[in-house]
Amino acid sequence: MIINMSSSATAEQISHVVERIQECGYQAHLIQGAERTVIGAVGSSGRRAELEALRAAPGVQDVIQIAHPFKLVSRQLQQRRTIVDVGGVQIGAGNVTVMAGPCSVESGEQLMETALAVKAAGANLLRGGAYKPRTSPYDFQGLGVEALRLLREASDETGLPIVTEVMSETDVEIVAEYADMLQVGARNMQNFSLLRKLAILERPILLKRGPSATIKEWLLAAEYLLAGGNKNVVLCERGIKTFETATRNTLDLAAIALVKELSHLPVIADPSHGTGIRSLVPPMSKAAIAAGADGLMIEVHPCPERALSDGPQSLDLAGFAELMKELGTVRVREVKAA
Ligand code: PEP
Ligand code: MN
Repeated sequence: MIINMSSSATAEQISHVVERIQECGYQAHLIQGAERTVIGAVGSSGRRAELEALRAAPGVQDVIQIAHPFKLVSRQLQQRRTIVDVGGVQIGAGNVTVMAGPCSVESGEQLMETALAVKAAGANLLRGGAYKPRTSPYDFQGLGVEALRLLREASDETGLPIVTEVMSETDVEIVAEYADMLQVGARNMQNFSLLRKLAILERPILLKRGPSATIKEWLLAAEYLLAGGNKNVVLCERGIKTFETATRNTLDLAAIALVKELSHLPVIADPSHGTGIRSLVPPMSKAAIAAGADGLMIEVHPCPERALSDGPQSLDLAGFAELMKELGTVRVREVKAA
């Protein structure tokens, strides 16, 4: 439920309502707007009738039901857009944040060459997989801790904050030691014990959409992070499985447009995994921004034909620089709440 306080509500009236919400068996989440305070009451086992009766409490304007099963991520609860700060880069602040780098960290030279080139072309964050979720156990699985160390070196050299995937609960501490932002990969979107552990971490999370997840399931996965205390969440649409096989996945652009209406969280697009085809990355990058994406994740490799993973969808260094030039002219769609 949402308790809308009137614009003249006093601090005492607000704390009285918070206390009553807790007495009724719910968690209270205070959202301070420019004009008024909104209080979210979330939980499943509280005394609902008593909560609804708060309509009569002093300073309360109205008590309304949140229409969706996801609450804290909902734009109904928080109109103001969340801006997520990753090492000084503001994601969701109205410009396009570009995270670029290789699918996998393969060597110090490969990573440093890519990092310097993407930085020079205007990227804001460096990506690179250290722990790789591969479909086959015989494929390259990533360099692990060694890759984390190389990412940090490249970050120190370029000033680009790092985003990298954490695949397992047991790796959360070590990845958090090196990375500025932790990525939950598509295959782990509904790994609830991993999400719970990341929720208590004070580090921004990039939550990729599962290949077969509905928008509701994706937002409920984000809800785990917010409900556990981590508000620094960025969503990433990376394509879903459909009957179409001509592209690796189907990049769901409508999901980007809709999630921007439904949620206050920033949303970025990953057209590399979303298409699996290098030539489609530039047009789908522009389309995603036109649909409202706050940023892009782009795979870049100095020599894609030699890449140990995802070469066919990786841009080379010149291709990435060209894309960055073209993006300069695309405007981000402004989205009103649904
Ligand atoms: C990746 O970003 O390299 C990756 C494995 O992505 P996804 O989880 O979307 O497949
Ligand atoms: Mn990849």
